[in-house]
Amino acid sequence: MKTRKEIDRDYRKRNAEKIKAYNQTPERKAQLKANQEKILKKDPDYFKNANKKWREENKEKDALRKKLYRAKKFGFDNIEDYQEHIKNKRELKKAENKKRIENEKKEKARKREADKQERRIQRVNNIKYDIDDNGCHIIVSGTNKQKSGYHQFNSGVYVHREVYFFNKGDIPKGKIILHTCDNSDCINPNHLIIGTHKDNTQDMIEKGRNYNAGYQPKLTEKQIKEIYLSDKSSYDLAEIYSVSDTHIRRIKRGTRCASITKTLH
Ligand SMILES: [Zn+2]
Repeated sequence: MKTRKEIDRDYRKRNAEKIKAYNQTPERKAQLKANQEKILKKDPDYFKNANKKWREENKEKDALRKKLYRAKKFGFDNIEDYQEHIKNKRELKKAENKKRIENEKKEKARKREADKQERRIQRVNNIKYDIDDNGCHIIVSGTNKQKSGYHQFNSGVYVHREVYFFNKGDIPKGKIILHTCDNSDCINPNHLIIGTHKDNTQDMIEKGRNYNAGYQPKLTEKQIKEIYLSDKSSYDLAEIYSVSDTHIRRIKRGTRCASITKTLH
């Protein structure tokens, strides 16, 4: 005994066979061809477009089927949930990447700063100096001496400021580093103190070294020449002319009043 479903299936099958056989007859073939030509006459691209449409529809269906398959594979019941999951995953990864790049940048900057510091220290350590009677560390090489008497590195940074920074600490903005020994060739950290431009000017006036600012020098040209040529110690000469012994040494070394003493060479 056949079920209702089976009877229906058999009926559809028999019907399809009948239609197939009917379509094979020469009359039907000619009729179909005539119909086709009629359509093509109206629209030459009709079958081409119909094919294309069919392919596109199936493509969408296929893509959907694939998406659902993937969603189920990763334990999701529908495509939307799976896509939401993918989106979150992507955003998380993006955030992680951003953080990683930021950290790398920070690390690079830190390393650059450390290298810079290392080079600065090295530059200071490369300076050669002699120690004189006064305890001054007199620069021999490793720097560029300026007309002002102060030493700079190639970068233009003042040597005594770097020495102060690495031995004693930060220099507040607007402050300058003064030599208590009044010798700009000296880099003994113990002879360097923080001061202001005003302090420096006051110091210069007291020590008589501001020749260009309209103040009378303490020593005359004749006295400077005498000092330069004298065999007496700098301490004795300082007593005699009532100026600092450092000033005497600077005249003798030619770092001060060179315009007067150079004729004596
Ligand atoms: Zn000194």
